[in-house]
Amino acid sequence: MRTVAITAPDACDQALDVLRAGGLVVCPTETVYGLLADCENPDAVSRLLRFKRRPAGKAISLAVNDINLARRYVQLNDQAEHLYATLLPGPVTIVSQATHIADNRLESEFGTLGIRLPDYPFLRQLVAKYGHALTATSANAHGRKTPYSPQDILDHTSASQQNLLDLILDAGTLPPNPPSLVIDTTASTPIVMRAHHDYQQFSSQKTTSYCTNSPKETQALAGKILQPYLPVIAHSGLLITLDGDLGVGKTTLTQGFAQFLGIADHVNSPTYTYLKEYHFHKFDQQGTLYHLDVWTLDRPEMLDALDLPSLMHPGALIIIEWYHQIASLLHPTLPTLHLELRSTAANAHAREIIVQDLSKNTAVKE
Ligand code: ADP
Ligand code: MG
Repeated sequence: MRTVAITAPDACDQALDVLRAGGLVVCPTETVYGLLADCENPDAVSRLLRFKRRPAGKAISLAVNDINLARRYVQLNDQAEHLYATLLPGPVTIVSQATHIADNRLESEFGTLGIRLPDYPFLRQLVAKYGHALTATSANAHGRKTPYSPQDILDHTSASQQNLLDLILDAGTLPPNPPSLVIDTTASTPIVMRAHHDYQQFSSQKTTSYCTNSPKETQALAGKILQPYLPVIAHSGLLITLDGDLGVGKTTLTQGFAQFLGIADHVNSPTYTYLKEYHFHKFDQQGTLYHLDVWTLDRPEMLDALDLPSLMHPGALIIIEWYHQIASLLHPTLPTLHLELRSTAANAHAREIIVQDLSKNTAVKE
């Protein structure tokens, strides 16, 4: 591993040589230090994934120098075109459907890819000279400290990881800007997947709001909400609490969670049984979905009979509809996502879905 000042006259040429040889370059951006690899070179992508040590299904975004290069890797719909025109270059990642020209291990499991057009001239120039998009993931391993300086990287990686890095372009300590905002344009309403305030170091709560326009979209959204929490389910179990008026879509959303987990059984409202149980197997992960509807369950002895604490174990995903009915009776010992569903004035099928992350588990962050 070599370090060269980003101001050195040959910094760009050195980086180009490393990239052509399938190597990894650490490069500053307007947000954090990023890890560059040729997105079309499978060996380079393999090295990058070895360095990142990320779980399956987590996508890695790409840096391009202009919108034309973006079109090589993703299909831009009107929404995306608009966002490129108004927000880029800047600290924003825009998610679109992939064309599969970049290595498909960089895609999300939904076949989407995030594109960055960094507000960092050195990096745009480097991409322009190189000709292919470069990976633009943060230069830390999954779950490790977000790197604002070369020292941050060295302090939080093993020797074997450091051996995978060929060149560090050193720009000293960057200003403490948050990682990029992620906007998914593949849903009919753009979804802000990672809002700036999520990354404020000391906030343990984050809230994200989504809109859907059909039951199908609500179900698809369920997968996107749940996907980052698969490691949490494996590690400790996860509680998802659902509130909102009758007929707003709590069960519909639960069907989406079940579909995402590959549960073949039809999930419907457990109103008269309180609790239904489904086994799932996702990636290499086994688990159980417990689906509860506590609409008519308001007496503590009824809740005692269900023995909810016995369901709170690693591998468990517990989904409770009408949670506020029992909120004062239950003291969850699991990381919790609270979802509030609302009808909106837009049209009869429009729903607002507000997700509050009450988990203190940092495993879900990059
Ligand atoms: P809850 O469990 O909250 O009482 P359900 O999921 O059983 O609600 O019912 C929601 C109803 O609303 C379903 O008939 C569904 O088809 C309809 N619906 C219409 N638009 C949407 C939407 N955007 N999201 C979810 N459901 C919707
Ligand atoms: Mg229901």
